[in-house]
Amino acid sequence: MKKYEWIAMNPEDTMIIAERLAALLQKGDVITLEGDLGAGKTTFTKGLAKGLHITKTVNSPTFTIIKEYFGNLPLYHMDVYRVKDSFEDLGFDEYFDGNGVCVVEWAHLIQDQLPEEYLKICLYYDKETGRKIVFSPNGTRYMQLCEELF
Ligand code: ADP
Ligand code: MG
Repeated sequence: MKKYEWIAMNPEDTMIIAERLAALLQKGDVITLEGDLGAGKTTFTKGLAKGLHITKTVNSPTFTIIKEYFGNLPLYHMDVYRVKDSFEDLGFDEYFDGNGVCVVEWAHLIQDQLPEEYLKICLYYDKETGRKIVFSPNGTRYMQLCEELF
């Protein structure tokens, strides 16, 4: 499957691509974010929020599992690091076909509970300070989205 790469030398570069992506998003879209601690998953989400004209500050939802923000579209920011098996039991999967955009940090931990189609985004440390951001579209909707974005 085709992948798309973006090199971000600083947090602003990470936010730029996220902001551009935000402009193309529709309700029901699901984005997964993978990467080591400090790779920039939350920074990327801040860029998405900016692009969706959300004025509230986005913080990591590590201890709350999900945070909701309201802009052009609702943004459901999830961090499933501590959830694992109970994700469906807690009813969080309902957000996937809801009225907004879902962003899931550490999504591989709930791999079997993800929708069939989603946009997978992996952030890697690149040399000293930069990051490499790899977009892997899963399904037609996200393949088109990436074609438009890049
Ligand atoms: P995560 O959510 O993946 O744990 P955060 O986004 O919370 O990561 O933190 C990333 C940290 O790395 C921030 O302190 C940010 O300023 C810094 N940083 C340095 N370079 C970059 C970059 N290119 N993209 C994103 N963050 C970067
Ligand atoms: Mg984070």
